Amino acid sequence: MTAIYIHIPFCEHICYYCDFNKVFLEGQPVDKYVDLLIKEMEMVTEKQVMKPVETIFVGGGTPTTLTEAQLTRLCSAVQRLFPIAKEAEFSFEANPGDLSVSKLQVMKDHGVNRLSMGVQSFNNELLKKIGRIHTVDDVYQSVNNAKQVGFENVSIDLIFSLPGQTEADFEDTLTKALNLDLPHYSAYSLIIEPKTIFYNLMQKGKLLLPGEDAEANMYEMLMSTMEKHGRRQYEISNFAKPGFESRHNIVYWSNEHYFGFGAGAHGYVGETRYANYGPLKKYMQPLEKNELPIFQQKELTLKEKMEEEMFLGLRKVVGVDKAQFQAKFGQPLDTTFARAIEKTTEKGWLESTQGSIRLTRRGRFLGNNVFQEFL
Ligand code: SF4
Repeated sequence: MTAIYIHIPFCEHICYYCDFNKVFLEGQPVDKYVDLLIKEMEMVTEKQVMKPVETIFVGGGTPTTLTEAQLTRLCSAVQRLFPIAKEAEFSFEANPGDLSVSKLQVMKDHGVNRLSMGVQSFNNELLKKIGRIHTVDDVYQSVNNAKQVGFENVSIDLIFSLPGQTEADFEDTLTKALNLDLPHYSAYSLIIEPKTIFYNLMQKGKLLLPGEDAEANMYEMLMSTMEKHGRRQYEISNFAKPGFESRHNIVYWSNEHYFGFGAGAHGYVGETRYANYGPLKKYMQPLEKNELPIFQQKELTLKEKMEEEMFLGLRKVVGVDKAQFQAKFGQPLDTTFARAIEKTTEKGWLESTQGSIRLTRRGRFLGNNVFQEFL
């Protein structure tokens, strides 16, 4: 299985909570970036025989800030350089408001078959408060445009536990999201990351968050509402109709290999995890000199690989399969992580079935606490 991630770091605005690798679009050398991104893909594909690509994910930043001409160049290069499997999943992240029919048509014409839209909330006031520039009407317009062009596999992202958000507000957002009848939904609780505008506000005591009980209630509401509407939870934050699970993200959670292209992109190929330079200039300079823009790479030890298998695999609702673990690493899961399993099971965060270990419902809310025990 070969998977590809492609990073487009440009955004038309900077959201207050965002710590992704992104830059403000205005004045950036976008054409040059697209050229060098294609060059990076050419350099990597020249070096090795590529197996059929099963999933491609173009993320950001905001990939839909690219113009139609830039999208055409990028997608044509992907089609030219990679042997894309017939049933491959080809996703684009998109912001509501950026999705014109003509851009969507370019994507569709180049094999894109899945959209992941950053909606975040169906409350215009909250959207403003978190620094988004789209409105709820933009969401409806974009979903309609996508349907008009023939996209069936559309997902939206939501964020809960936003500053000033009530449980009733999140319930309203969930209702409106589900009324769109999309096959896939992702919902994340807000995390305040360093170097964000929200982090600075929090340091000054000016960010009023709902609190842990309300956050837990919202998460419980999310899980039960999605279940009621036939969107099966398959990962801590992801819900889908059967057959619409994100195959690309499952690659990450199954600790499988993928190539990463673009500024700040990460990859995992063979035994090695690598990361490209994040800042635009640092990413582009080596490519101009025909060098790959790799900032760091690390060959993983067996111990690291097993730990990653756990903290990635436990994100999946099915958990980590014991037989697969044994086949992959040549040792039994139960004894390799006996202490961590015992401790987290005692706390009610983890459960063992005959064939796997997985998070309990409570454990899903406390995911990071559980994962730490396996490191
Ligand atoms: S959240 Fe998305 S749209 Fe907002 S700044 Fe970050 S990458 Fe850009």
